[in-house]
Amino acid sequence: MALKGRIAIGEGPKSKFWIEELPVPEVQPGSILIKNTGAAVCGSDLHGWRGDQDGPIVRRKRVPGHEFTGRVHSLGKGVTTDSLRRPLKEGDKVVFPFFFPCMRCYHCLRDQLHVCQYRFRNNILYKFEDYQYCDGGFADYFYLRPGHFIFKAPEEIPDKVLATVNCSMAQVVFGVHLAQPRQGDTFVIQGAGGLGIYATASAAEAGASQVIVIDGQPARLELARACGATSTIDLNEYNTPQARIDRVRELTGGIGADIAIEVVGIAAAALEGIEMARMGGTYVDIGNISGGSYTLPGNKVINRQVKWIGLQHYNPWIIEACLQMLMRTKDKYPLWDLVSHTFPLEKINEAFETAEWVGKQKGSAATRVVVTV
Ligand SMILES: [Zn+2]
Ligand SMILES: [Zn+2]
Repeated sequence: MALKGRIAIGEGPKSKFWIEELPVPEVQPGSILIKNTGAAVCGSDLHGWRGDQDGPIVRRKRVPGHEFTGRVHSLGKGVTTDSLRRPLKEGDKVVFPFFFPCMRCYHCLRDQLHVCQYRFRNNILYKFEDYQYCDGGFADYFYLRPGHFIFKAPEEIPDKVLATVNCSMAQVVFGVHLAQPRQGDTFVIQGAGGLGIYATASAAEAGASQVIVIDGQPARLELARACGATSTIDLNEYNTPQARIDRVRELTGGIGADIAIEVVGIAAAALEGIEMARMGGTYVDIGNISGGSYTLPGNKVINRQVKWIGLQHYNPWIIEACLQMLMRTKDKYPLWDLVSHTFPLEKINEAFETAEWVGKQKGSAATRVVVTV
């Protein structure tokens, strides 16, 4: 009898998810079937759920979830190792990119796999009606196409932590990498949710002399301080953009930060953050994938020669660097405690409501919410 698994399905913004049982794709030579262990609710999941994004793909019946992980359920013919040629067997914990770069385009050829315009995800490529399989993030199984990147993960790292590696962690660690930090650089991290905490630790590990973290939730700021932040700015105390900009300048001897990173997901944060970067500094905008457009203050960016970097996706090698960082810093930063809430798949709607921060007076206290399967 064909293998079947549970999968969450939604239809259009603000709809409740429901669970269906569907057959699992057949494992082809070179491919790998993953038995998922957990999926996190990412900010971009919330954008779609909330209705920040709109369009035919968001409105149609669709399988959510992209920040997740699992164990090898079955290896297709010919697969014996991971992407670093380490032996791979059924049952191994693994992490893999949730998106598939095409590997045969101008950008892929230039080692910019994160820029590949032909990268795809099944839930975007196919209409649900044309691809009715248990193959997704908030689901029991995920199918890795032949040749896809996969990294064996240390058994010791808890599943709920591994669930956050292939989007939030990899995304911001890649952002820190692209900013090309020098030893002793000063950083500002706007936002102390899952991405912000990982960005903080990554900046500290990159040799930062200061990591200044901004958020409005005291518990998140406390976690940030434990994960490498040298100072924090509480939005409740510094309650205007100018007050926060001034505070960053004050903390950096009047200069501003060498590198500022936005992981809040609202346009206003970016306009504020650009002014926190020093003259000739770097601004990395990651959170604003659909948080609304903003007009880049060209005069300020040019006069102050700020290097603005927009970033989405990553080059898969960063996943291994993230796994190494999680192991290397396990007694240094409480990154393994970053996931604040877990819910079983049947309670996926509750998981989304817990992760939601828009409309809540003080935002959400959750750093990361994981749905376990
Ligand atoms: Zn994500
Ligand atoms: Zn490509």
